Amino acid sequence: MRIDILTLFSEMFENVLGHSILKIAREKGLVQYNLFNIREYADNKRCVDDRPYGGGPGMVMKPEPVFNTVGAIEQQTDVRPRKILLTPQGARFSQSIARELAKEPYLMLICGHYEGFDERIRIGLDVFEISIGDYVLSGGEIPAMVVVDAVVRLIPGVLGDQESAASESFSDDLLEYPQYTRPAEYRGMKVPEVLMSGHHQKIKEWQREHALKRTVERRPDNLNKI
Ligand code: SAM
Repeated sequence: MRIDILTLFSEMFENVLGHSILKIAREKGLVQYNLFNIREYADNKRCVDDRPYGGGPGMVMKPEPVFNTVGAIEQQTDVRPRKILLTPQGARFSQSIARELAKEPYLMLICGHYEGFDERIRIGLDVFEISIGDYVLSGGEIPAMVVVDAVVRLIPGVLGDQESAASESFSDDLLEYPQYTRPAEYRGMKVPEVLMSGHHQKIKEWQREHALKRTVERRPDNLNKI
């Protein structure tokens, strides 16, 4: 998968893309990350935002630097990306959206900043708008990192054990069952006997039962989807 990230703050991504699963995915050749600094493509590099028409607080990202960046990238390749605009007004990001995006060969993520985007960026670029939750962050960079991380771990071959993605919370709309590792007893808290029994069928039943119990207790809203 190719992932292009358009941002005014490309340095913010270096650490996140350079560690853990995102780094391993790149090293395995399963994903390629390209960072584009929107400012570099502006007609006037010192002016990427301006005051809103009609008044109001803050500054709005101008359309031309973003259109110029997208245009310059699209000139380099015939393959058209699935364009994603990070905005608190978008569709709420979820595991099922992550699964859908993980099938795409090419994603382009566009990060806003300041008071957000000039509306013509949304109208003119045929974008899928994504929000990572009902709160407002200072920029689209952290939301883009969230989307990239959630998507890349679902690309076949990225995780050492494909089972981990398949059994994680939300993969089947259930929360994951409780997990334990060594020691068998810690500060008086014991690992449930069945998990150490070696009886695979019973272990599966225990995991299913506890995944359901946890979902009923914490996310009953998810039960409707199952
Ligand atoms: N004025 C905008 C509004 O009220 O909808 C919020 C702008 S926010 C301060 C600046 C940028 O951060 C947005 O353009 C978007 O790219 C990003 N952003 C902030 N919160 C976000 C969220 N929950 N999900 C996705 N992106 C977000």
